[in-house]
Amino acid sequence: MTTPWGYSDFDAHEAVHFVTDEKSGLRAIIAMHSTHLGPAAGGTRLWHYADDAQALTDALRLSRGMSYKNAMAGLPLGGGKAVVLADRSRTKTAAMLEAFGKAVDTLGGKYVTAEDVGMSVADMIEISRQTSFVAGLPAEGGEVGGDPGPHTSLGVFLGIKAAVKRTLGKDSLQGLHIALQGAGSVAGGVARHAAAEGARLSVADVDAARASALAAETGGTVVSPDDILSMEADVVSPCALGAILTEQSIAALNAPIVAGGANNQLATSEDGQRIAARGILYAPDYVINAGGIINVSTEYLNDGGPELVRSRIEAIPGRLEQIWTESAASGKDPASVADAMAQKLIGRG
Ligand code: NAD
Repeated sequence: MTTPWGYSDFDAHEAVHFVTDEKSGLRAIIAMHSTHLGPAAGGTRLWHYADDAQALTDALRLSRGMSYKNAMAGLPLGGGKAVVLADRSRTKTAAMLEAFGKAVDTLGGKYVTAEDVGMSVADMIEISRQTSFVAGLPAEGGEVGGDPGPHTSLGVFLGIKAAVKRTLGKDSLQGLHIALQGAGSVAGGVARHAAAEGARLSVADVDAARASALAAETGGTVVSPDDILSMEADVVSPCALGAILTEQSIAALNAPIVAGGANNQLATSEDGQRIAARGILYAPDYVINAGGIINVSTEYLNDGGPELVRSRIEAIPGRLEQIWTESAASGKDPASVADAMAQKLIGRG
């Protein structure tokens, strides 16, 4: 799609803010895709980008993804996302977090932030000194809060089980082989849940020490990052970065299911069709990985406790089933079906 702004990923964002703070060296982009259902909510990613255009593309695609994710999870939130453009060693200082918190505050609650890749609970505490429009803060005494990662992992695990039930007719992951791309927060949780159910794991991470540690903990095997997506497995679970499902990697897939937590797994919308054309079941990323934002939302809006978070996450497999059933009936691929559902929910259908 082309837009009046010339960026195919712009997709009618309500606003995009470019933040510069010379003193701390902060450069950030805050993208707000939609506030139709509520404040634009989505985490902050700190990453080293090859150039500014890549950072903008990432912010725009992630922000639209949050609109779709929050809508499909039934949350009263719109979608937004921030990226902090880091140097090669991903330096992060208290002064940068302070400047970023101030920038979020100037938006008056239209954008609400939380953790994403490169940001921790401790960073959210720093940001919360400048603004109240932040979640993912430590939970106290049975309250909802903290790192969204484990909640994302639970939703992904339940989504994988739903895909396995649908495709392989099995109620358990016992004895099944899961190829995990990534060994970070989300992948770690998925691996622990799957291993506890008796799954066999292959783990790959560009950070070899992380992959080794997770494999050792879960009885898995370390695999090269170059090989993980093409492994013969029951489930390929992308839990690292986005745009990894391309024409080339899809042609090499050797598993009946792709279900993982990474955002923006499809490099292009045609790639959703390519996966379906190969007869592989795909779990749309922003539907299966909504567990973290469900926790963030419940914390930020203070509309329930841990039981509500759990029941909202347990609704993820049902939503996936709905998408897969409609996909089977219409012949459209699951990603396109999910996009159409989400667009309708945010008033753009
Ligand atoms: P993380 O930083 O803890 O882990 C990501 C891991 O991926 C790192 O260990 C990194 O070294 C590895 N990695 C990067 N490129 C790789 C590659 N090409 N091959 C193999 N490994 C690679 O981040 P996370 O919180 O686990 O997030 C993982 C993904 O899930 C991201 O796409 C994120 O946007 C998405 N996500 C996270 C959450 C959450 O709650 N944390 C919620 C929704 C979506």
